[in-house]
Amino acid sequence: MKKEKALVVFSGGQDSTTCLFWAKKNFAAVYAVAFDYGQRHRVELDAARIIAGKAEVPLHVFNMDLLSQLTVNSLTDTTMNVEKAKPDERPPNTLVEGRNMLFLTYAAIFAKEHNIQHLVTGVGEADFSGYPDCRNDFIVSLNQTLNLSMDYPYSIHTPLMWKNKTQIWQLADELGVFEIVKDETVTCYNGIKGKGCGECPACELRNRGLQNYLEERKE
Ligand code: ZN
Repeated sequence: MKKEKALVVFSGGQDSTTCLFWAKKNFAAVYAVAFDYGQRHRVELDAARIIAGKAEVPLHVFNMDLLSQLTVNSLTDTTMNVEKAKPDERPPNTLVEGRNMLFLTYAAIFAKEHNIQHLVTGVGEADFSGYPDCRNDFIVSLNQTLNLSMDYPYSIHTPLMWKNKTQIWQLADELGVFEIVKDETVTCYNGIKGKGCGECPACELRNRGLQNYLEERKE
């Protein structure tokens, strides 16, 4: 893989930032795409631009307003409260239906245009919050569909698929970007950079993982 090019689907969050630096380690040239779909917090896209700049990765931001016209969710509709995931129930209202399929598909079109076969995404099953398009089965299926639809040998890479948040912090540390991920990414549903509001479901997951990792690192 070291001689090839990769395209990272990037959001400025913890997971995709870790993937960005993972890609830098594993590929000769790395590019990134981010999507503006009317997410509550423009700070996410600002963070994406800053991090891509620090990583010296060219970032292309595409407008995906259409997504918020098609589906209602609490990440784009500011009148809705952000729900927490509850086991055995429907996914929380932070789910943006179809998001990963659309983003990966658009990324794939852009990638082929630039002779890039490798796509990298930060989705994962380990801290599964009920989003169907984070599952490995879906990624394997979409990979095949993309290859058939564009007659092109894509490989979708999911370095975080089986890692929990603690292990994702560990990976960032191993890649030498622990501080960048800790301070520059936006994961919080309330749009607060770094350690976030501390109360929303995304912060709870992120901060619990960070605490666990820091405790492990001390030992
Ligand atoms: Zn938060």
